[in-house]
Amino acid sequence: MKIVRKNIEVKIYPTKRDINDNAEKIVSIDKIESNIGIYRFIYDEELEFINHFKSLLIQNGYDDKVKVNDSSCSVILDMLRQEYSFLEKAESSSRQQAQRDLINAFNRYYDSNLKSAYPVLKTKKKTKQYSFRIINNNNNVRITKDKNGYDKIKLAKLGIVKFKTSKEYRKLLQKGSDPNDESVKIKHVTIKNVHGTYHAVFNIEQIHVPEKIIGPKMQMGIDIGCSKLAVTSNGQEIPNLDLKKETDNILRYQKTMSHHKKGSIRHRKAQRLLNKSWQKFLNKRKDHYNKITADIVKNSSFIAVQNENIKSWIKNKQLSHSIQLNAPRKLLEKIEQKCQQENIKFVKVSKFYPSTQICSNCQKRNENLKGLKNLGIRDWDCPHCHTHHDRDRNAAINILNKGLEIVGTTVQ
Ligand SMILES: [Zn+2]
Repeated sequence: MKIVRKNIEVKIYPTKRDINDNAEKIVSIDKIESNIGIYRFIYDEELEFINHFKSLLIQNGYDDKVKVNDSSCSVILDMLRQEYSFLEKAESSSRQQAQRDLINAFNRYYDSNLKSAYPVLKTKKKTKQYSFRIINNNNNVRITKDKNGYDKIKLAKLGIVKFKTSKEYRKLLQKGSDPNDESVKIKHVTIKNVHGTYHAVFNIEQIHVPEKIIGPKMQMGIDIGCSKLAVTSNGQEIPNLDLKKETDNILRYQKTMSHHKKGSIRHRKAQRLLNKSWQKFLNKRKDHYNKITADIVKNSSFIAVQNENIKSWIKNKQLSHSIQLNAPRKLLEKIEQKCQQENIKFVKVSKFYPSTQICSNCQKRNENLKGLKNLGIRDWDCPHCHTHHDRDRNAAINILNKGLEIVGTTVQ
């Protein structure tokens, strides 16, 4: 078993208030800034104390090498806390972190191999530090639901805060927050201010499971859909990618370009923005397809697809827009390529095979489903054996069976 450590950075949205309408403690900008300030304050005060002590040693003719460790620094921190009550506002682990970082800086300085420079006051540093760290003790840093049922980050004493991240990261953080899930652990979180926007960097430990599936690999038929991007014979539905924002931008810049003279500054600017929008659109689609392809192929030993007559769909105006945007043929090409790389059998079923009209249970054809009109029918009952079918799943099963027939085997 291998354990990997990684950092997950998410954007957080602290507010101006300390408490929300449901009387829940929320993370305010003030709290974050005061924690950042306190971190620097402790680091610098302890460092100044040590510097002062060193100079006293020298004045009195002693060696100025002092031991900077947990016990000596904790004494200084205790004195500081008695003198400055505002230090209590900070998370205890973030107070300790300031001290730990100082000790580490001294350790590096005393380490003859590293030859690091003598620690410098944080406030005097060119790159002023705008962060603080909270260690996760007893699950005090986690993802939790607020009273309205929304996912929030809970930061120990500070309260809850809204965040934004990808589905994948959210899932990891949720696993890390579940005390019963041993596969992911949140070790600590660093809160930082990056030019006025706030980020939380979670340091997590994850049990790394090599990508190998246990049990037999699946034979799979794939129906390239229109309302959905694809449906597989085992019932997996892959939704179309939402590309509305990207397309809206493309259309907008195309329009702007048409309104300005070719070669003018505005025309060129719109051209630049248009190119950028296209790039974003294509990248997003590519990423989506890569993910789907990897997912489908890694679980399969045999894949059958239908060489759909996509052109005949495009004649149908309502469909054409979403199909062109999602370019299902590109997805098929990717799957075929990946199958070749991974040595997985890949078969194309003829586009004339009526996969959507045959009942996968009794193999009889439903004559009511002929023609383009059947694209609107999402599910149907077989008039012969009365099996209820989801249109796309049934088609995917038929494609699988036909594919297996072509290579001369049957479902295993
Ligand atoms: Zn039937």
